[in-house]
Amino acid sequence: MTDCIFCKIINREIPSYPVYEDDEVYAFLDITQTTKGHTLVIPKKHVVDLFEYDDILASSLFSRIPKIARGLEQAFPEMKGLNLINNNKELAYQTVFHSHIHLIPRYSTEDDFSITFKNNAENYTTEKMAEVANSIKEAIENGK
Ligand code: 5GP
Ligand code: ZN
Repeated sequence: MTDCIFCKIINREIPSYPVYEDDEVYAFLDITQTTKGHTLVIPKKHVVDLFEYDDILASSLFSRIPKIARGLEQAFPEMKGLNLINNNKELAYQTVFHSHIHLIPRYSTEDDFSITFKNNAENYTTEKMAEVANSIKEAIENGK
């Protein structure tokens, strides 16, 4: 796609710091380096977000993640953990609309990444949980 910053990075029209590349996938350092080694893994095919993936694209992209993760671990033995983040759509903090997975190495509780999930379990009865699960399950079964 002509106006996409990540397509331009794949095509070397914009410089980047590559860490992995094959026919389907490109991985490079995120410019912000939230923590050392913060890496973006992207499909070479331009897709906006996860909702556009088919099974083949999903397996080609996600199958590369463990070896890139192990590369980070070996490069930085002081790494103590790794967060994968995938933002989809503006509300969910997506800012570049060529789908990408963030690999964010973690070094300590004091590093520059944090994520918190509120626990709303008290608002969900067992019936409500079953209803929510069933609506998702049925949608998956009826989907493509
Ligand atoms: P999002 O917010 O969409 O999940 O993540 C987009 C990421 O792309 C951000 O973390 C941002 O730092 C990164 N980014 C944006 N422009 C560039 C660029 O030109 N080069 C690199 N390497 N990363 C970029
Ligand atoms: Zn693109």
